[in-house]
Amino acid sequence: MPELPDVEGFRRELAGTLPGRRIRRVTVHDAGILRNVTAQALGYRLDGHRFDAPRRCGKWLILPTDGPTLLVHSGMTGHPYYASDGTEHLAYERLVVSLDRGELRYADLRKLRGVWLASCADEVADVLGPQGPDALNIDLRTFRGALSDRRGRLKSTLMDQSVIAGLGNLLTDEICWRARMRPSRAMENLDADDVRRLHSAMIRVLRTAVRHGRVPSLPRWLTAARDEPDPSCPRCGTRLTRDRVVGRASLWCPRCQRE
Ligand SMILES: [Zn+2]
Repeated sequence: MPELPDVEGFRRELAGTLPGRRIRRVTVHDAGILRNVTAQALGYRLDGHRFDAPRRCGKWLILPTDGPTLLVHSGMTGHPYYASDGTEHLAYERLVVSLDRGELRYADLRKLRGVWLASCADEVADVLGPQGPDALNIDLRTFRGALSDRRGRLKSTLMDQSVIAGLGNLLTDEICWRARMRPSRAMENLDADDVRRLHSAMIRVLRTAVRHGRVPSLPRWLTAARDEPDPSCPRCGTRLTRDRVVGRASLWCPRCQRE
């Protein structure tokens, strides 16, 4: 899955290029990425419309026009981008929207998610499904409200898009490590101070990650240890534990993250 920082990076890039561009032609190279619309209907319904400013909701990229709205939920390798006229094509290009100037392209090596089309705000909401407050802009009070009375594990709660929108596997492990809590911690065991530490860890991790356009492998980040064969904690040097928590590959420090 893409993480919020990647999608925010796509949005910021497109915000400078897409608004005002008129759609001339839609070319679908791989109809397998289309989720609720055929290639023919996508072209027909978008034709002639102008793009407005792109938005993001959690891990969704929302591309409204003065007609229907295009919604993109990329897999890990999905990359929507603007290409000025004559730019070389990337491999695995699934969709090209030709504009009055340049093109909107969507490349994806794999295609776990894809592209939806919605004709009105209600349809957009249906496609997105229930979304909690966006992780990037959430204040402590809202965060506390979102987590209150939740059951289950910390990790599954943070990754539940209907609780908080935007956190994926990498970010969640990074935030738990920074807040010194195990991903498997039971929600009932969080006190007010834990929630405050989680919130501040989340804000710091997200701000840095958005600046990098991805969850970065910085020296003092857990994410940097992820791909090592025998990773140790960047904070205390203890060998990290790798195991599944709520079905997801997880990494944590048995010494500085408490159950
Ligand atoms: Zn440690």
